[in-house]
Amino acid sequence: MQLTEVLREHAGIWLERAGRPPVILDRYARHCFRLPQDCQPDVAEGADDTLTQVAAFFAASPEAPSQPRRRYAVHLLREHLASRELADGLGTLVRAMPPGCVLRVVLHVNDPEQDWSEVLRWAAEVRKNAFSQKFKAWIEVLGRPAALDEPVKEAIFQRAIQLGYTAGWWQGCSPAQYTEFDGQVVRDLAEFGFRIPVIWCAHDGNVRDLMGPIEAALDANLHSGFAVPAVWQNPYYSDEKGEPDLAEQGEAYLRLLADVYRRYPHTDDALAPIAELAELAHCGGWHTADQVATHWNLLARPDSVFAVYRQIPALARPWKACDQVAAMDPAEVHSDLMQFCRREFSPDALPRCAGCQWRYVCGGTDPADPDPTDPNASRLELLCEYRRLFLEAFVWQRLKVEQVSHQQSQQAAVPG
Ligand code: SF4
Repeated sequence: MQLTEVLREHAGIWLERAGRPPVILDRYARHCFRLPQDCQPDVAEGADDTLTQVAAFFAASPEAPSQPRRRYAVHLLREHLASRELADGLGTLVRAMPPGCVLRVVLHVNDPEQDWSEVLRWAAEVRKNAFSQKFKAWIEVLGRPAALDEPVKEAIFQRAIQLGYTAGWWQGCSPAQYTEFDGQVVRDLAEFGFRIPVIWCAHDGNVRDLMGPIEAALDANLHSGFAVPAVWQNPYYSDEKGEPDLAEQGEAYLRLLADVYRRYPHTDDALAPIAELAELAHCGGWHTADQVATHWNLLARPDSVFAVYRQIPALARPWKACDQVAAMDPAEVHSDLMQFCRREFSPDALPRCAGCQWRYVCGGTDPADPDPTDPNASRLELLCEYRRLFLEAFVWQRLKVEQVSHQQSQQAAVPG
């Protein structure tokens, strides 16, 4: 038997880096076994007692470590806000959230001149009828607001609505606007006291030019953060003709993520997609009791159906109609949702994820046609690339810190 087989059997993780001894982690990346410097994964039985030690390591790693926090985001488009079915379904869905979870209700707005009074009424209703002390929840409104009157800003503030400024791409955005943002509006909101991260949707048309605008926007928003998701992660992205893609500039996107992280290594919680990966590597991303990933996105579709996705909203899988959810006993809603996620998104069953050593940390991706000529196959491949890259970097970072604190506690234990 070789180490690779032991790793496969336990879904373990192999990490190696030039100049460091390799390490093995259990499938959840919670426990670590440090190997001798020259050890290779194809080491055969009898070469040394490494295999016995590794087997003992897996036997000692608990199958059910402490559960990482579950995080849910429910995404809605402004155009569907008036739907009663949606409001009722959302109310039941939010009330059904499990204790201790984190919930974001995210309203995406494409029109800068929107009527805020309807949004404020809706936010007040969601908060009053559905939010509970048992979990942490907030409402986010993401869009490009025009200049807001003082009373509107006051009302947004009082309802504890979080704001994000969408840039880089939105529905109807012209190529001339790919690196544009309204610094005046952003500064005005930041000076009022809002944290207003600028969310730069990256694509072929702007990915090489974003560094300067990111810095300018950080100056305008008084350093209240930014994010650089891929354009496909915007729920308004529908894959229609005329929408920019990121397929041609995948490498430039990876470089941009690496550059922004190098320049802003504090992994501010607004820094999507990097902040999520830092959390997965440090806290874990698999709920062993539910047997599903800890992070889920739900999208309220125009046909009043809640659909579930991991990364690309256009690939969301329909779960239940909003009126069906509204009619359910809240006690059943969450377990029904988890059952659906287990069935539709099991990383062991997804062709892309089944052989990936990060599947119990990352949590997997969206089911899509594995045919490489399908544009979504190459999109998911690019999203995977940065996930693996950052998960590995963050896990190494964590191991380094753990080793230092372990050495320090050993030194402290040595009698003076
Ligand atoms: S990194 Fe990619 S292949 Fe691996 S589990 Fe995550 S989504 Fe799946």
